[in-house]
Amino acid sequence: MKRAGIVRQDPAIQKMLSIFPYSINLYMDYPQQEISLLDFETYGLDRLQQLRDVENAYVRSITNTSDLVQISKKYIPVNPNSNNFKDTNPMKYLEEIKERYSQRLKDYISHFVLRLAYCQTEDLREWFIKQESGLLQMRCKNPLLSTEEKNSFINSLNLNMQEVSTKEKKELENELRSIIKIQDSNVRNEDMVQAELSKKYYKLPFEDVVDLVQSRSVYLRRGMAYIREEDIISLIVHIFKENLRNSLERLSNIYTKLLREDEERIGPILTNISRQYIDDDYSGKVDSNITHNDIPRLSKYFPLCMRHLQDQLQIDSHLRHGGRMQYGLFLKGIGMSLQESLIFWKIAFSKKITEDQFNKNYAYNIRHNYGQEGKRTNYSPYSCAKIIMTNPPSTGDHHGCPFRHASLDTLSKMLKHAGVRENRIPEICSYAKEGHYQIACTRMLEIITGADNGERLTENVSHPNKYFEQCYPGSEYNKNHKLPDTNNNDDFMDI
Ligand code: SF4
Repeated sequence: MKRAGIVRQDPAIQKMLSIFPYSINLYMDYPQQEISLLDFETYGLDRLQQLRDVENAYVRSITNTSDLVQISKKYIPVNPNSNNFKDTNPMKYLEEIKERYSQRLKDYISHFVLRLAYCQTEDLREWFIKQESGLLQMRCKNPLLSTEEKNSFINSLNLNMQEVSTKEKKELENELRSIIKIQDSNVRNEDMVQAELSKKYYKLPFEDVVDLVQSRSVYLRRGMAYIREEDIISLIVHIFKENLRNSLERLSNIYTKLLREDEERIGPILTNISRQYIDDDYSGKVDSNITHNDIPRLSKYFPLCMRHLQDQLQIDSHLRHGGRMQYGLFLKGIGMSLQESLIFWKIAFSKKITEDQFNKNYAYNIRHNYGQEGKRTNYSPYSCAKIIMTNPPSTGDHHGCPFRHASLDTLSKMLKHAGVRENRIPEICSYAKEGHYQIACTRMLEIITGADNGERLTENVSHPNKYFEQCYPGSEYNKNHKLPDTNNNDDFMDI
């Protein structure tokens, strides 16, 4: 049997080790490896699941390290380098190297598949950057990541930073103390402060750590930012985000040219992957007995986007095409039949148009949505991702997602109008302001149903129809779960 030392000399093993030396990767170089079309698609879809789980973890404010580690390796596991190999166990070593290589190859390729699938619109790019940064952060905080691997990875980045000498640290002791206290409220006594001061500090040009400067986590002097060793992770994430943003923008400019030769093979796969997120399908019906008369009574259980459309429909006796599509398919999704839909829209428009005009100009589209005209496609209600990321509303339109498309001022008014108590509105708006639109919507749902007083929801809102299903007491979902009780909920005014 070969000894592990000899195995390590093997050129094939050397190559595997040198291609992906670390479990953390900033994906700076484009992949050169050849993979099958099947792997291309499978890897892309697995990474999409992984990123959705990352998003969910942040939505649910999961902070427990072991939970985050489990989440970060569910679909795209990447084990940190292990130092547990004994020279006497060459076969195990060989297996680990092969396993490590295949994990990291999948991680690498899958990242680039999604770069291609998510480069085309700003919203897709921003979603992808946010979730990839979250995944990177989780991996950097993995307790199994050894200091040796982490330091070696940081050194490989050739960052423009220097370790602060003991002498300089002594001179800046008071300033560093104040930063420690701002950063970490757990540091309460002098011993803890001393322990923090004894750690390594680094200095680097402040423009390289803009995020940290904004969060007041660094000490600034003469254009240099002084940071603690553990804040280097924030720096790495910042560098990663900037590189990824630039790369996605460049990719979007050359996307068509890039795919020209492979359009037929790769184009449909990429479309499928990006649509998996956009077209989160909803096929359930909440109550197939819902009639046009029920809608005003039920609208208090609608998500804000649909409540707004219902309100505007009542005010204007009209909705433009985007609103009619978004709202009409939502109503179909909650169980309204074609016949009831036709009556609903005819009555809603009746203040402005005659029955003849309605039949001539609008009835066809409603029947079309139910698969009774044209290609006879049975259209699905729009997902949140579709509403948020495609077809933004122009002036006079009322479709879209208020958390994404309304100003904060308008959003506050809408939330108040929907019955959310004023003291809960700033929290919801702050999520929307930071670009967490579905989290903002989830918080609204939790507040309205009283779920935030007990168990928080396990998933964020991803579909308006799912929101309704969870909010409406008469739904199948709520027959099997704790009923929301808006009447006993102090944070919601039933208006
Ligand atoms: S997050 Fe989804 S359900 Fe909520 S308002 Fe926006 S589009 Fe509607």
